[in-house]
Amino acid sequence: MGHADDPCAHCEEMMQPYLDHILSEEEMREAETHLDECEWCRKRYRFEESLRVYVRMAVTEPMPAELKEKLAALRIPLN
Ligand SMILES: [Zn+2]
Repeated sequence: MGHADDPCAHCEEMMQPYLDHILSEEEMREAETHLDECEWCRKRYRFEESLRVYVRMAVTEPMPAELKEKLAALRIPLN
């Protein structure tokens, strides 16, 4: 099997769009099939997904009041 035929290389390409859920149904199925068969990609995928959940949490979590005050103190009036 040459490098171009490496299913993991293809999986790598699909990883980000898969996580963004922007693949076609067929591509999603293809990615899922590979994840079922390939432990390495499954681990990678889980890691990437948990990273995204963490980032999302950091974005949606309410800002601590203390930090808000600090930001407010830094804010320069626009007029
Ligand atoms: Zn793989």
